[in-house]
Amino acid sequence: MKVSEWKESVIDPSQIDKYLVDGEDFICEDTIKQQIKDGENPSDEYIEKIIQKALSVHTLAPEETAALLNVKSPQMWDKIFAAALELKKKVYDNRIVFFAPLYCSNLCVNNCEYCGFREKNCTEKRVILDSDHIKRETRSVLNEGHKRLILVFGEHPKSDIDYMIDAIKAVYDVEAEAPKSGKLANIRRVNINAAPMSIEKLQRLKETGIGTYQVFQETYHKKTYSEVHPKNTLKGDYHWRLYALHRAMEAGIDDVAIGALFGLYDWKFEVMGLLYHTLELENRFGVGPHTISFPRITPASGSDLSKNLPYQVSDEDFKKIVAILRLSVPTAGLIITARENPELKREVIKLGCTQTDASTRIGIGGYSDQLNQDKQQFTIGDPRDLDDVIQEVLKEGFIPSFCTAGYRCGRTGETIMGMLSHCVEGKFCKLNAVLTFKEYLYDYASEETRRLGEKVIEKELKEIHKEQYFIDHPKLTGKFDQQFHDIT
Ligand code: SAM
Ligand code: SF4
Repeated sequence: MKVSEWKESVIDPSQIDKYLVDGEDFICEDTIKQQIKDGENPSDEYIEKIIQKALSVHTLAPEETAALLNVKSPQMWDKIFAAALELKKKVYDNRIVFFAPLYCSNLCVNNCEYCGFREKNCTEKRVILDSDHIKRETRSVLNEGHKRLILVFGEHPKSDIDYMIDAIKAVYDVEAEAPKSGKLANIRRVNINAAPMSIEKLQRLKETGIGTYQVFQETYHKKTYSEVHPKNTLKGDYHWRLYALHRAMEAGIDDVAIGALFGLYDWKFEVMGLLYHTLELENRFGVGPHTISFPRITPASGSDLSKNLPYQVSDEDFKKIVAILRLSVPTAGLIITARENPELKREVIKLGCTQTDASTRIGIGGYSDQLNQDKQQFTIGDPRDLDDVIQEVLKEGFIPSFCTAGYRCGRTGETIMGMLSHCVEGKFCKLNAVLTFKEYLYDYASEETRRLGEKVIEKELKEIHKEQYFIDHPKLTGKFDQQFHDIT
């Protein structure tokens, strides 16, 4: 099939129209702007009340998030930052889940102004990994100690659904000996970051066995969206993208991940967009996003925009974004990536993040093939090895987790959201974190990490003995209430 014919076949307007209400979507620019304006000068009492609501694990209303966006007093920000960490620990315990991204192909038919993969970027050498190469990459990532991958694809007929399915299977096929123990290890959870697709294609992804399906809206502001995503491209269709995760839910993928790319438009507007997206998913499907991402644009090859951002987000504002998202959507995981430098990552992890990548290479073939290191989609700020990042996280008092049990034990969608909002999920996960981290210590860790890690495990085990924690069990599937009844 010619590329032009394939492009014609991708978007199915009937899979957009069915979600519109009276022809309208759920992002109303005027309403959001008015809410941000109305939220100006919030009283300390109101902010305290909002913090208490978040701490009781309730998604905030737009007016409440708008008030947080308008807080000015440094004392109040200190309270918000402290509450963000408290809430994270209450819902997710003190785990940090680790993953690695694996970039499969940089072929792309789109022309996003901020991205090095865009079609018009002639400086980018195009590469698409075959199954053998994906297996080599997987082996390299496994050798670091990872158990969870996110596969990333440009949008192109050559990397369409059949290629994605083969890539997922290739990853799951690999078994590699752990360097310290010689034990066989494999990737236990594959997440996907790929362009929006039809319900039929998403059903095929689901059948292949994926964890989370992630699509970032980039910007919720429609005018900006059309300026940075040319109209004549697939990505130029704002609604096809806005409803990508609705289609995923309909296809049975109930762990979906949203995100906004910060730097394109006013960060306050984007935070409100992420909240409205959450509320829409919660109202329509009873389940909010599994995770929220908040990448900041970093310089990309062949992209002037990425080097001259119209709405550059400062480090101070970035911290506010993370803390406000934490309070606004208490049940969502928050992902901080290697786009950010180690110093800032260290700070925002303490504001409620639940996941991070490490030993990240975003060049195509970047893990196994050093020659391809230059083929990066954008610049990363934290190239440290997994072992180094783990040491740092341990020193901050968190426990690294390689747990992937959730989706294999049926703890997805409504089930996991129920457990998170009842603050029970952390109790399953603490044990799984200890078990999987102990496994890491024996199979991969350096001497120093092992020493630090054993101490943290000792502390965690004391907590486990003190309180009632649950052993994860594959038979515990189905609705949360039934599970809760079964285990108490
Ligand atoms: N092609 C798919 C898409 O656009 O949804 C997925 C792959 S794309 C490589 C993954 C994400 O990288 C994008 O959704 C965007 O948010 C992010 N990204 C693109 N250019 C970036 C840049 N210069 N800096 C930081 N993140 C960037
Ligand atoms: Fe292609 Fe995604 Fe990059 Fe846009 S962001 S150019 S769709 S890879």
